[in-house]
Amino acid sequence: MKNIDWQHLPFNYFKTDYNVRCYYKDGKWGDLEVSTSEFIEMHMAATCLHYGQEVFEGMKAYRGKDDRIRLFRIDENAKRMTRSAKGLLMQNLPEDKFIDAIKRVVKLNEEYVPAYGTGATLYIRPLLIGVGAEVGVRPSKEYLFLIFACPVGPYFRDGFKPVDIMICRDHDRAAPLGTGTYKVGGNYAASLTSLQIAHDNGFATTLYLDAREKKYIDEAGPANFFGIKNNTYITPESTSILPSITNLCLTQLAADMGMKVERRHVPVEELETFEEVGACGTAAVITPIRKVVDIDNNRFYEFCKDNKPGPVSTNLYNQLTSIQFGDQPDKHNWVTFVE
Ligand SMILES: *Cc1c(COP(=O)(O)O)cnc(C)c1O
Repeated sequence: MKNIDWQHLPFNYFKTDYNVRCYYKDGKWGDLEVSTSEFIEMHMAATCLHYGQEVFEGMKAYRGKDDRIRLFRIDENAKRMTRSAKGLLMQNLPEDKFIDAIKRVVKLNEEYVPAYGTGATLYIRPLLIGVGAEVGVRPSKEYLFLIFACPVGPYFRDGFKPVDIMICRDHDRAAPLGTGTYKVGGNYAASLTSLQIAHDNGFATTLYLDAREKKYIDEAGPANFFGIKNNTYITPESTSILPSITNLCLTQLAADMGMKVERRHVPVEELETFEEVGACGTAAVITPIRKVVDIDNNRFYEFCKDNKPGPVSTNLYNQLTSIQFGDQPDKHNWVTFVE
């Protein structure tokens, strides 16, 4: 293992030794290629640069106490990348090739998978971009799939500690029938202003509402939203949120714990009635929310009275991370080893 200060890694780019690439040209995908360069060369008229023909994924590799390296639900990432690619009329990489590429990039950079017990992980970033030259608006005929990996610490600096978030009423991340359900860079471009406003006001992130009526909760920046009350796990149903794999796991784990699970519209005012609320995603894992501030309506909703994560969120967090790091049996078959 590399000699890196695993405990203090930020969630940021970190140079590792190898990345893996694959090109689509003349109507077919080539072989996976290993590269040591951090740069790509592409045509200045590439569709990803001008018309945002870009989709990505995000997942982590976890080192267990047994030193084995685990990947988590990568078949779900593969399926989602296919969905996103189709949504932007892009050639998708065959899912078995996607999974090979992930295993390959992790194996090649295995010395960068952080030590067990530090909370750090190897973040894996697959990317698919249109690289063919076009000036008219149309899908590219050529694509580059690439995947790199960086050791990272928690996305929200303090890890499993409550954060404050701000409801955003002046900006939308995604339109009701737009690209919100696809993992595309364009949604993030649309979110930068509101994220900046949230940061400037001391909030960890933004809570987006449905763009049509501004009545229902959508999601929390790069993470899905959930609320807990009356032994029920509640998460928004919406046509503009990204279907989080972490959220999917939490609905299963909540059901395993004997909780009810509801996926439905969640009106903003319902925040009043929740016992716990949180944000979830690969990067955020579970981030408990202490306060939701609705500045424009001069209202706020408070949770975590003693400044500690609630018992259900804590339980879900422990269940999820103990499966990911191999401390608990993987009874749903979510883990893939990198040997
Ligand atoms: C990636 C992402 C999430 C989290 O999804 P996971 O599969 O749990 O990592 C949530 N919201 C948005 C907008 C995302 O891009």
